[in-house]
Amino acid sequence: MSQLFNEAKRRLKDAAKHLEVDPDLLEKLKYPKETLSASLLVRMDDGSRRSFKAWRCRYDDTRGPTKGGIRFHPNVNLDEVMTLAFWMAFKCAIVNLPFGGAKGGVAVDTSTLSKHEYERLARAYVKAFSGFIGPDRDIPAPDMYANEMVMGWMADEYSAIVGQPSPAVITGKPIELGGSLGRNDATGRGGYYVLRHLESVLGLSAEKTKVIVQGFGNVGFHVAHLLRNDGFKIVGLSDSRGAIYDPDGLDPLDVMQHKQDTGSVMGARTYGKAQELTNADLLEQECDVLIPAAMEHQITSENAPNVKAKVILELANGPISPGGDKNLYERGIVVIPDILANAGGVTVSYFEWVQNKAGFYWELEDIHARLRRRLEPEAIRLWNLSNEKGIDMRTSAYMMALERLNAAVAAHGTRAYFCS
Ligand code: GLU
Repeated sequence: MSQLFNEAKRRLKDAAKHLEVDPDLLEKLKYPKETLSASLLVRMDDGSRRSFKAWRCRYDDTRGPTKGGIRFHPNVNLDEVMTLAFWMAFKCAIVNLPFGGAKGGVAVDTSTLSKHEYERLARAYVKAFSGFIGPDRDIPAPDMYANEMVMGWMADEYSAIVGQPSPAVITGKPIELGGSLGRNDATGRGGYYVLRHLESVLGLSAEKTKVIVQGFGNVGFHVAHLLRNDGFKIVGLSDSRGAIYDPDGLDPLDVMQHKQDTGSVMGARTYGKAQELTNADLLEQECDVLIPAAMEHQITSENAPNVKAKVILELANGPISPGGDKNLYERGIVVIPDILANAGGVTVSYFEWVQNKAGFYWELEDIHARLRRRLEPEAIRLWNLSNEKGIDMRTSAYMMALERLNAAVAAHGTRAYFCS
C-alpha cells in the first residue's frame, strides 16, 4: 500500500548516509506534517450526486509555505499524494525556493466529466480544503489533468470564501487572472535548460542526439518542441493510448496537431515509416536521451536492463523505481533526477506567487532568464557532486536538498547547540 512512500524514504536514508545531517531533521521528515482527506459531493448534470475522494498533504514547511500541485487521476491515492508532497519538499529545496512541499489529489477520470461537472468538482475541492490552503500557508498548482482554467476556478472560489481577490493562493492561473507569463511551458522548458546546460559534460551534441519522450501532455510536448527547434532528432513519442517511433524523426508540432484532431498521437505523420508501439516498448527503443514525462514507476528492475538510452531526463515525478535506478547506474546510464529536471514548473510558480504578492508583472524574457539562473548552476553542481563522490545523481540531488533543509533546521538550534 505504501510502497511508493517507503521507496522515497529509502532514497532519503541513502543520501543522508553521505552527509552529516542532524538527526532532528530526519525525525522531522519521517511523516507528513499534516494530511487532510475529504469526500467531495458534486451535483452531476443528470441531477444525481457523486462523491469523489480527495486529499491534500503538507509534508514539510521548514523552508516556507508548502507548495505543490493537485493531481486529477483515477488512481490517485493517499500513498501517492504523500510521496508527491515529500518530493515537492526536496524539489523546492534543490532550486532554493522559499517553500516547503505539499501535494493534492482527486480520484477521478476527468474525461468522464462534463465541463460543468469539472468546474463544480474544482470548486468543491477548494471549499473542502479552504482552511488548509492559503497564500502564506499552502499554495496549490496544476498537476496531471488540471489546466489553467481549473486553477482560475479554484482561485475564484477561494477569493469568494475569504471575501477578497486572493490570486496568490494558487499558481498556474490564466494570465488574465494573475497568472505568470512562461508558466505554461515552464516544466518542459526547465528540463530543456538542464539538458542543454549539461550537454557537453554528457558528451551530447544537438544534431547527433536522438530523443524519445514518453507522455505527450503539456510537459512532454514542450520539451520535445524546444529540443527539436535546436536540432535534436525526436524519434519517439507516446500518450496514454500508445506510442509512435520513427528513426527518421518526427515533428512534435505535427504530432500535436494530429492529437488535437484525433485524440491520440497514433497515426501521426512522421519523416519516415513510423512504427506503432506500446508505451512499455517505446522505453526500450534505440535513442540517446529518454525523457519519461508521464507517470511514476515506468522503469523498474524488470525493464531497466532493456533501456538503450545513454541519458534519462526525468520530467515525470518518480518514473524510475529504486531497482531500476540500480540497474541503470551499474550500466553507466546517467539519470538526471526529477527533483531537479522537472523543477521548472514550481520555479515559475514561485515567480507567479511573487508577482501576485507584489502586484507587479514581469516580461517573458525576464522569466526565462530567471528560470535559467535558478536551474543551471544547480545542474552543474549536481553533476560535479555526483562525480566527486562517485554516486548517482539522484542520491546527490537528495544530498543537495538535504543540506538546505538541514541548514534551516540548524538555524533554530540543534541538539549540539542546546546540550553543549
Ligand atoms: N505539479 C508540478 C510539480 O510536480 C508543479 C507544482 C507547482 O507549481 O507548485 O512540480
